[in-house]
Amino acid sequence: MQKRTFLKAVSLLLANPMISRFTAWAKPEKLTNWAGNLEYGTENLYSAESMGRVADFVRKQSKLKVLGSRHCFNSIADSHDSFLSLQSLSKIVSLDRNARTVTIEAGARYGQVCPALDEQGFAFHNLASLPHISIAGACSTGTHGSGVKNGNLSTAVSGLEFVAASGDLVRLSREKDGETFRGAVVGLGALGAITKVTLDIQPRFTMQQYVYENLPLDQMKDHFDAIVSSAYSVSLFTDWQKKRLNEVWLKKRTEDGKSEEAPEEFYGAKRATKNLHPIAELSAENCTQQMGVPGPWYERLPHFRMGFTPSAGKELQSEYYVPRRHAVEAILAVERLRDQITPHLMISEIRTIAADDFWMSPCYKQDAVTIHFTWKQDWPAVRALLPVIERELAPFQPRPHWGKLFTTSPEQLRASYEKLPEFAELCRRYDPKGKFRNEFLNKNIFAVA
Ligand SMILES: Cc1cc2nc3c(=O)[nH]c(=O)nc-3n(C[C@H](O)[C@H](O)[C@H](O)COP(=O)(O)OP(=O)(O)OC[C@H]3O[C@@H](n4cnc5c(N)ncnc54)[C@H](O)[C@@H]3O)c2cc1C
Repeated sequence: MQKRTFLKAVSLLLANPMISRFTAWAKPEKLTNWAGNLEYGTENLYSAESMGRVADFVRKQSKLKVLGSRHCFNSIADSHDSFLSLQSLSKIVSLDRNARTVTIEAGARYGQVCPALDEQGFAFHNLASLPHISIAGACSTGTHGSGVKNGNLSTAVSGLEFVAASGDLVRLSREKDGETFRGAVVGLGALGAITKVTLDIQPRFTMQQYVYENLPLDQMKDHFDAIVSSAYSVSLFTDWQKKRLNEVWLKKRTEDGKSEEAPEEFYGAKRATKNLHPIAELSAENCTQQMGVPGPWYERLPHFRMGFTPSAGKELQSEYYVPRRHAVEAILAVERLRDQITPHLMISEIRTIAADDFWMSPCYKQDAVTIHFTWKQDWPAVRALLPVIERELAPFQPRPHWGKLFTTSPEQLRASYEKLPEFAELCRRYDPKGKFRNEFLNKNIFAVA
């Protein structure tokens, strides 16, 4: 640690005994995101060990970013000044059985909360491919799972508590705060330090998961809506080669944990005879149980198991949301690029998400299909390819995932988010001097608003 940094850390510790220098992620030297493709701009990482101290800490900083579980691939979370982690603040604060809501401290990861929620008899409506991510970070970036009737994870948010730049605590709710609330939920980390989130819950449910192999592209073309509507959550994986989708993952809700035998064939695809990883060559050890074995919602909705490395690890990711009405055309447009894409690709995933009304959500007022790319970790090659894919998808007005890699210009972002100027105004209201802004936000939001 540099001497200057060390002194700063010590003086901060003395001033804020409940905010401590946090070193667990700072491997020997550098602080990076989860995938290791991004070295953050500072190692000044402080951990809040009590809610009460967050306000004080925020008030005293001139610039900072709150870091979640570091699963974003781009610099949306980056800072050159300091980071605040709420990782130690991960308790369930309250569960309201009548209102069917749970309030959680904002450092919690889904994987920490879900088993406890299930024990109380409740569930979330959906989860992303991995349970390792922080709830606040996931909701702030419009993170999603799949399902034609399922909104992204932020659509479960019914209340939000955050510390604004002044150090004041702000509480917003779906019920009382209308447009302000709708502007704040997918907040890109720009409004303040989220300290608590209240989420809708529903009675716990069980699910079973079946995987099918080799769905012909023509079947997808002719039956896309039927395919993606055939289960509660459907994911299509492809390497774009051989005119087929390599794997189809169907996650179905079951009645009282009863297992239902699935047909051997699904639109020309064959039911798998063992658990599979989305990248078929990799071991399925880190994947959730398939083969129709019933299990709790939180062990079937994600593809990857808590306690294991999700996905491949050393990778990059990009993803584009396209209006679902254009799904087939958009998928075929990408498929035409297959020979440029595949050499750099580990796997692609296609999912669906229901529309919502959050200003900065990529599903704002449109049912969406997402086309996702897990890339080999070769940024120069991927950076050269992204504009080609974005050009091909341009007729469908693609919105990139806020937490993944894209080359979409700020002007294009501005054109696809009608509420972007209002969002920038909302940020200025809670953070007039740009305490929570960084280069990513300045470039993609404030420069065009
Ligand atoms: C292996 C892998 C699989 C993935 N699968 C999916 C998937 O299935 N679906 C999907 O949509 N995405 C997926 N992603 C993307 C990723 O999960 C999300 O963008 C991520 O959840 C962001 O949450 P985080 O806590 O890691 O945020 P970070 O990267 O730490 O931060 C992201 C943003 O949230 C802000 N933030 C975090 N916590 C707070 C807080 N308390 N207060 C204020 N701001 C805060 C940060 O400041 C930053 O702006 C995947 C990523 C990986 C690495």
